[in-house]
Amino acid sequence: MSDTKSIREIRISPIVPSESVLVATARGMRPKQAEEKVERDTREHVEKCPFCKGNESKTPPTIKAYPDETNWEVRIVENLFPVLGDDRDEGGLNLGLQQVIEGYGRHEVLIDHYKHGIGVFEMSVEHLIILFSAYRDRMQALYQSDSRLKYVLVFKNFGPAAGASIAHTHSQIIATPVVPENVINELTHSRQYHQKHNQCVFCALIDEALTYEATIYDRESGEVRRKIDVGQYVIERGEKFIAIKPFASRYEWEIHVLPLTHQSDFLQISADDLEDFARVVKHSMQRLDKVIGGVQYNYFLHTQPHGDQYQDCNASYHWHLEICPRTSIPTGFELGSGLFVSTISPEDAAQQLRDAEIQ
Ligand SMILES: [Zn+2]
Ligand SMILES: [Zn+2]
Ligand SMILES: [Zn+2]
Repeated sequence: MSDTKSIREIRISPIVPSESVLVATARGMRPKQAEEKVERDTREHVEKCPFCKGNESKTPPTIKAYPDETNWEVRIVENLFPVLGDDRDEGGLNLGLQQVIEGYGRHEVLIDHYKHGIGVFEMSVEHLIILFSAYRDRMQALYQSDSRLKYVLVFKNFGPAAGASIAHTHSQIIATPVVPENVINELTHSRQYHQKHNQCVFCALIDEALTYEATIYDRESGEVRRKIDVGQYVIERGEKFIAIKPFASRYEWEIHVLPLTHQSDFLQISADDLEDFARVVKHSMQRLDKVIGGVQYNYFLHTQPHGDQYQDCNASYHWHLEICPRTSIPTGFELGSGLFVSTISPEDAAQQLRDAEIQ
């Protein structure tokens, strides 16, 4: 069987081949500094927090509240300091090689829960269904509000290193007239894969994770170097969703959640799907909390952009949630080369996450 004790290899992302990860697990070879864990503020209510109940007047007005403004569990407001605004028209500016696109867009904040310090792993499945429905509804509303908006990015930061400036649990939605480069890369490569193999690369990876063994061959001799049981990448399996540990994880504890049946756009998610999605995300977050606890993280949704240019991606693109815990500080080597370094083998990380006991 595989020897995961000490690995040093460069793994190419099966989805975006230009992205690669150096997996270097040997002791004494760790070129990285650990990111600090943050003390989690577990208080339910904080008097001075603008996102806590009773302080609604300290935030911009409510865009939408679930179930209603007085008894809200999830509340959406405009961002007080938007990175993009809709006060000016989108207009391209061209200065030779240097191009500028007006910072036009929309920026909203979702207060994920009325309880100040609650973790996603502690939220009930019922609550997460409300939260994820809110993501879907706002995305839909933003796309409908303005056809210039091509992408609505939903993301969450937890902890200062992950970019969260307010401790109260919250997510953000940024709608832009341009599609983020990470998404474009995934779209381009998955489209190419589909043209070649007539299959969605994400579906292929899910099938592989559920069915086969992978074999690593020696590049020179062609001999079998190692067999990998790919089923070992499955962290959590629901009825309609699966959480997997990417084979070429950029972050040591990265987990991706995908619908088991092909779906390109998060807006296609049904009420039934939402329940299973909520459960799989909750369980994944519980496992992360058990194994690495108190860690700072980002999660974000990658889904099919809107606009004519991307309509041909229905069959080739597959939406997913990427959960990226920040356990180490990126080094100059990583930033300069774009080659991420993982000091834990993704197989070991997956095993630990799978073995974690959760209720
Ligand atoms: Zn609060
Ligand atoms: Zn697919
Ligand atoms: Zn992605």
